[in-house]
Amino acid sequence: MKTFAIATLGCKVNQYDGDDVRRQLKGYGEVDFSDRADLYIVNTCGVTAEAEAKARQLLRRAKRNNPGAFLVLTGCFRPEDRDQLRSLGVDLFVPNAQKARRAELLDDEHAREGADETLGSTKRTRVFIKVQDGCDQHCSYCAIPSFRGALSSRPLDEVVEEVRALGAAGVPEVVLTGIHLGKYGVDLDEPADLAGLVAALLQKTTVPRFRLSSLEPQEVTGDLIELMASERRLAPHLHLPLQSGNDRILAQMNRPYDSAGFKATVSRIDQAVPGIGLTTDVMVGFPGETEAEFVETLTLLESGGLSRLHVFKFSARPGTPAATMPGAVSEAVKSARASRARELGQILLRDYCAGFVDRIVETVPEPPRDGAQTGLTGEYLRVKFNQALAPIGRICQVRVEKSEDGFLLGRVQDG
Ligand code: SF4
Repeated sequence: MKTFAIATLGCKVNQYDGDDVRRQLKGYGEVDFSDRADLYIVNTCGVTAEAEAKARQLLRRAKRNNPGAFLVLTGCFRPEDRDQLRSLGVDLFVPNAQKARRAELLDDEHAREGADETLGSTKRTRVFIKVQDGCDQHCSYCAIPSFRGALSSRPLDEVVEEVRALGAAGVPEVVLTGIHLGKYGVDLDEPADLAGLVAALLQKTTVPRFRLSSLEPQEVTGDLIELMASERRLAPHLHLPLQSGNDRILAQMNRPYDSAGFKATVSRIDQAVPGIGLTTDVMVGFPGETEAEFVETLTLLESGGLSRLHVFKFSARPGTPAATMPGAVSEAVKSARASRARELGQILLRDYCAGFVDRIVETVPEPPRDGAQTGLTGEYLRVKFNQALAPIGRICQVRVEKSEDGFLLGRVQDG
């Protein structure tokens, strides 16, 4: 059997797309990207310069592993980079706009026989379901709208059917993803929104746990908060990207909320769902960001309610408004600010974890890695536990005995 290897960079939507590629590849066996394969696929991300550099590294590695392999680049990449990428050995480009034809395009080069459905995402303890694509927000630093195109939601019934099958197959957790998830349904003929979709999934499927991926802060509706407060199967976790705590920078970023609005949203959710895990993204070193404006961001992050930070340094994406804004912040200052924000993130996470000691959490045990077994709690904390009693892929309860370095440690409860 011929072999393929795939590496996916970037967001959860890309991970879903990566799984989709796996499902489409018939008659190939999957191997690790570090092994020799006949076909390598890099499913890339154009959000940061780091991700682009990583994609180039992966392409070089693939060529080293097997100089005769066929190399495919898919995902978010700039058409104008093709010549350079071709020089790294890329044989076939499949941009997002053509992904519906991905199998057909791959088939042009590789005749396939048989089917290997075992390579689909049901091998996972968490399955990402993409319910929406595209974004119309046009944040000034982001190139995604030009890669992903207009808003496009999957019909509610189609999502329910897919998730119903996953529930019947015993998948313990489904994560609903989208490029602009909070806009789910606005483009559909039948009126639908995210809260309605979640309610339908809870009612019509048996999946034990649902989780929402990133949501724009201004799109957390009262209906959604109510569902989170009342439905045990909906994980008490939301990821709300803040980016900056300074209103001038938020306006420059074209983010449609201000710092007071973000704080109000966090406190509204926190009151309705006490103890919820609220994670966020922070971008440091946006053009023109002063020390005082950065400190305002830190102050907002310290003001409470957040459990974990993902910190990014601004990197100019060609073709975006922010790429040509004046006031570039030096790399040294960006790195120093990122370190300060990450230190604060560690403190927030440590304090949040400490609140779980002596409590019982629910988790889905994952296959052991490096001799340790872990799982994610509903609040998006990683918990390590004694191996023997934990059934992989089934929700179980763990008594937390201590917290350490942003992890929980505990024992699986019998029964
Ligand atoms: S909301 Fe902003 S950051 Fe997110 S995909 Fe859309 S444009 Fe990019």
